[in-house]
Amino acid sequence: MRDIKDVLNLLKKNHNISNYNEKLLLKAWEFACVAHQGQKRLSGEEYITHPLETAYTLTKWKMNVDTVIAGLLHDVLEENAFTVDDIKSEFGSDIAQLVEGDTKIGTIKYSGAERYAENLRKMFIAMSKDIRVIIIRFADRLHNLKTLKYHKNQEKRYRIALESLEIYAPIAGRLGMYKIKEELEDLSFKYVYPVEYKWTIKQFKSQIGEKTLSLNQTKKNIIKILKENKVQFHSIYGRQKRLYSLYLKLLKKDKDINKIYDLIALRIIVKDIETCYSTLGIIHNHYQPLNGRVKDYISQKKPNGYQSLHTTVFNETHNPIEIQIRTAEMDNMAEFGIASHWSYEDKTYKNLENQNLDWIKDLVKWQGKIKNNRDYIKSIKLNTDIFKSRIFIFTPKNDVIDLPEGSTPIDFAYHIHTDIGNKCVSVKINNKIAKLDAELKNGDVVEIITDKNRIYPNPDWLNFVKTNTAKEKIKNSSLKEVNTTTKRIITRLRRWKRRK
Ligand code: MN
Repeated sequence: MRDIKDVLNLLKKNHNISNYNEKLLLKAWEFACVAHQGQKRLSGEEYITHPLETAYTLTKWKMNVDTVIAGLLHDVLEENAFTVDDIKSEFGSDIAQLVEGDTKIGTIKYSGAERYAENLRKMFIAMSKDIRVIIIRFADRLHNLKTLKYHKNQEKRYRIALESLEIYAPIAGRLGMYKIKEELEDLSFKYVYPVEYKWTIKQFKSQIGEKTLSLNQTKKNIIKILKENKVQFHSIYGRQKRLYSLYLKLLKKDKDINKIYDLIALRIIVKDIETCYSTLGIIHNHYQPLNGRVKDYISQKKPNGYQSLHTTVFNETHNPIEIQIRTAEMDNMAEFGIASHWSYEDKTYKNLENQNLDWIKDLVKWQGKIKNNRDYIKSIKLNTDIFKSRIFIFTPKNDVIDLPEGSTPIDFAYHIHTDIGNKCVSVKINNKIAKLDAELKNGDVVEIITDKNRIYPNPDWLNFVKTNTAKEKIKNSSLKEVNTTTKRIITRLRRWKRRK
């Protein structure tokens, strides 16, 4: 059984906890115990096990004290035992805001799907003000998914799992929290696609035994080679591909498990960037790399901050095996993404201002479209760009822009700046002149050619652009054009009348 002491001890391991904060945490524990007294989970356990588990998960993610306390208190307002003002006066406004942001709205006004949609909308608004709100929700949701089997209502169970898979997991991905994304996905997978889930497990099991043996052999040899070359490494271990991401990849690869090279990958954690590259060199010196599979995400990091070197080599038994090389810091960022910013107590979410979080504003803007929609998960996916698969496009200066799949040069241009979009006349993709409606591919280098005398976009572009940003900006600019043209005509008419 988990205890509040487990949370406290782990917190102390991660951060320097003041006496005051320790007392505050224990007070929050008392509050939660009182609020949930006599309440049971569907599993039959005491309700308090849920906030405790949520707080523990947040501690594992190295979140700060305030966030962990908010995790303990995240469901107390729903019990009506306390008010927001109580929380504020006892725990301060930071914690009160987090708890309020995570509190689901009551059942009186809305029910069923509408209630889900309303809750989601409320959360998007809260997370646009403080991103920790969604991180608490991730921890909350993970425990709910782990205990989902106790839910008797099939429809509810399906809806919770689907929402986790289609809404929460992609958001975790956009925040670079891959470990959490994968956990959310694997836990929901079996409820949303039970048949496919069983099929994927069967595929996985058919290969994993042999591949693990093969990987262990390579691991031993690589350790030997690294030692011979006096390379210091923190750790080296095999990492299995998660089920849901394996399932998606199988769909892309003709459902052929033999075409999956990263079913199990070898990860090497080294001390610094220089060692990452030298380690890659040493490995290529001993193993033949597979063409086109070397990826340098260190010099060109992914927009979500992911950094690592990837390569696929043929091992001793001529099996392709993926090797990932990164520093401990990069590894932490890859697993916890934005949450790794709270690893240190003195850093607050305000440090996140230079992070590209514009997509959250986009989400808040578009969530209006899901209003009163019974099919809200489908509708939010259709109306927002962020849940679509992303491609990475490079500017001529090597900046990375991520766009939804199917985007065109015009989408790219508007993503950079409204003016670049409005003044766009032609485009070069990988140094070759291309059409403005060409479909961009992952890794393309795109150069927009503008005409400074051009003011208004071509309304025909609306027929092919993919992103909401581009659509909206074209519409707005075209509207201005119409208004200006109207004004021009009126002015002319007035002038003409004056002359008469
Ligand atoms: Mn909860």
